[in-house]
Amino acid sequence: MKQAIDLCRLIEDFGSEEKCRTYLEQLRWPDGTRCLKCQSEKVYPILGRNQYVCDSCSYQFSVTANTIFHDTHLPLWKWFLATYLLCESRKGMSANQIKRTLGISYKTAWYLCHRIRAAMVEADGHKLSGKVEIDETYIGGKNRGAGKGHWAENKTPVIGIRERGGHLHFIAANNLNQTKLQDIIARNVDKSVDVIMTDESALYNFNMTQYQGKHETVNHKAKEYVRGDVTTNTVESAFSLLKRGIVGAWHKVSVKHLPAYLQEMTWRFNNRKNPFLFRDTILKLIASPNLEYKQLTATVQDAA
Ligand SMILES: [Zn+2]
Repeated sequence: MKQAIDLCRLIEDFGSEEKCRTYLEQLRWPDGTRCLKCQSEKVYPILGRNQYVCDSCSYQFSVTANTIFHDTHLPLWKWFLATYLLCESRKGMSANQIKRTLGISYKTAWYLCHRIRAAMVEADGHKLSGKVEIDETYIGGKNRGAGKGHWAENKTPVIGIRERGGHLHFIAANNLNQTKLQDIIARNVDKSVDVIMTDESALYNFNMTQYQGKHETVNHKAKEYVRGDVTTNTVESAFSLLKRGIVGAWHKVSVKHLPAYLQEMTWRFNNRKNPFLFRDTILKLIASPNLEYKQLTATVQDAA
């Protein structure tokens, strides 16, 4: 598939199990099927099964082995359709919506979405440069709005870092303080950055860091939002998309799953001009290991 995809193309190209399987094989083995164990090219299809057998080591395997599709009971075309929907919907899609669209149970839809989401991850360590905006927002919790002082108490801080005309990173950060923020910034912003723009929060103190002298601020308290080129408006617009996603599609996002939703959101955002987003996401699914249901539903303490 060489072009962007729409729903009609999706149904035409991937409307059957066999078509999906063939596509996965093309993506996983562009130079021909190889044994997953010994890399031998001498492999043969097993008649009547969606498997191959290796002539060199007798290993039997399918194209979904050791991928996120491993052991799935769901037809591949439903995986493909859900992947398409998650790629295309700007604000994300709720498990309830996927449930209705695919005619599957809520639990299956929830698990499916989480596995696709887990695969939507940018290569680790990509750093932003040029003109970078940084801002923080607070997600979840019960105390909506200001009023009682510690309104952010039950909320999870999310740091948004956006390179003008480039990528966006969202990072969830509990117990946010200056040191933690500096660490996040060091992991996400290249030291060659031209300028870092923030508001005047005391959180952003770059003295004695590698970004010293590259920091510009706008004073939101004095109702200053733009000063020449200095603004945090583009990262703030990304936050408003995130919040609409959480309110409109995901409803209530637990602290535990927040990083996964942030990942989905930035994956989609950073690929908004990529005509091969669907293919690239399927490639990610092939490259991702299986994610077990019990892993997802384990409490944070269990996972630690
Ligand atoms: Zn082999």
